[in-house]
Amino acid sequence: MNKREILDILILGSGPAALCLASELASQKLNISCISNKSPHTKWSNTYGIWASELEDLGLDSLLSHRWSNTISFFGSGSNSKGNIPTEHSYDYGLINREAFQNKLLNKCNGIKWFNETAIEIIFENNISQVKCKSGLKLKSRLVIDASGHKSKFIKRPKSKQVAQQAAYGVVGKFSSPPVKKDQFVLMDYRSDHLNKAELLQPPSFLYAMDLGNNIFFVEETSLASYPPLSKDHLKERLISRLNRKGIFIEEIMHEEDCLFPMNLPLPYKNQAILAFGGAASMVHPASGYMVGSLLRRGPELAKKLKIFLTDPNLSSIELAQKGWDVLWPFELVQRHKLYQYGLNRLMSFDEKMLRSFFLNFFQLSTKEWAGFLTNTLPLPKLVFVMSKMFFKSPLEIKLGMLKIN
Ligand SMILES: Cc1cc2nc3c(=O)[nH]c(=O)nc-3n(C[C@H](O)[C@H](O)[C@H](O)COP(=O)(O)OP(=O)(O)OC[C@H]3O[C@@H](n4cnc5c(N)ncnc54)[C@H](O)[C@@H]3O)c2cc1C
Repeated sequence: MNKREILDILILGSGPAALCLASELASQKLNISCISNKSPHTKWSNTYGIWASELEDLGLDSLLSHRWSNTISFFGSGSNSKGNIPTEHSYDYGLINREAFQNKLLNKCNGIKWFNETAIEIIFENNISQVKCKSGLKLKSRLVIDASGHKSKFIKRPKSKQVAQQAAYGVVGKFSSPPVKKDQFVLMDYRSDHLNKAELLQPPSFLYAMDLGNNIFFVEETSLASYPPLSKDHLKERLISRLNRKGIFIEEIMHEEDCLFPMNLPLPYKNQAILAFGGAASMVHPASGYMVGSLLRRGPELAKKLKIFLTDPNLSSIELAQKGWDVLWPFELVQRHKLYQYGLNRLMSFDEKMLRSFFLNFFQLSTKEWAGFLTNTLPLPKLVFVMSKMFFKSPLEIKLGMLKIN
């Protein structure tokens, strides 16, 4: 590529968002390059979980390394036999085989050039964007798509002082006795009998756990969303006390996961010269923290539309980005996002007892309803219906909490 060349699209990043979109754009016969401060072949470190149906709908369920049909949660207190009754989800959940996923996307990125660089500045001049890199390299492109994650410093959005963070500390390893049953996946274990009175007043957290086979388990203490976020040490302490209370001790740590990302980042402004995708575009589901399914569902449509927009040679970076934002965040999805954000804000005001009661009730919805809610696949009218149904079926205390009257 010569220095004066103007690319059609320049993508920042090499995480799931960058690769999901780049792999779709690659088939659109555009002049595309990517910049990432890591090689696109550097293995991703996060553990990505997903409802199996999300991959099945896309014909990608072979990407699961593990799949569980025995999927449960606990929303009781844990202090007596009634408080230990599981809620059965009867809905398959899986872990994505990160390496296979990454390789599948990379194989589709034919013809895309990668620059191992760190973008430090993006300027918009003469209708074109220019990305400056730490090394001094400058690349020009008709459109820059920022997929550098939720910490992006390039994307402009309304300021929010209190962005709730999902925080988790997890261990893949061996234990003195199984933390979950054989072939079992526990989405949320909110039992709280291991916590003292002072801890019960702190933001709640739950155990996310799974049997990985061969006596290996993944256990993760997770705070759904909180501001300020729960610290790693705090979550680690809770995880250990939860396990110890059941007489379970960690015998070998094979991998530690330290997770912290924003749940309710405000949506980016649409009138900026850069488009984004993934964490940088606030695509994390504000009520669950999941995003991979959304990347896979929303990438192809965006790629197709960008190809069409780029056929007009007169469109500037700012016009192209705005058109892209409209595809990524149309009215319907913005409204759904607002509803989820409202719900999350209310949930964050709930103490652990209220949260347990809320989720117990939430999972009484039909599977289609709760799964559609959690995967953000319900059309807006249906989402409103499901949220209303949930509200009317809730105990009075939760109703008041959902209405900000608690
Ligand atoms: C520990 C953890 C576990 C998660 N688990 C799940 C899960 O189970 N299921 C789920 O759906 N979601 C999960 N998420 C949420 C979300 O899917 C992930 O955060 C996801 O990795 C975000 O993808 P991304 O590509 O937008 O950003 P990232 O994965 O953060 O990738 C950003 C990329 O940009 C590059 N980069 C950053 N800055 C620059 C720069 N200035 N110049 C060039 N390159 C740059 C980075 O090297 C990286 O390649 C999890 C998040 C975390 C943190």
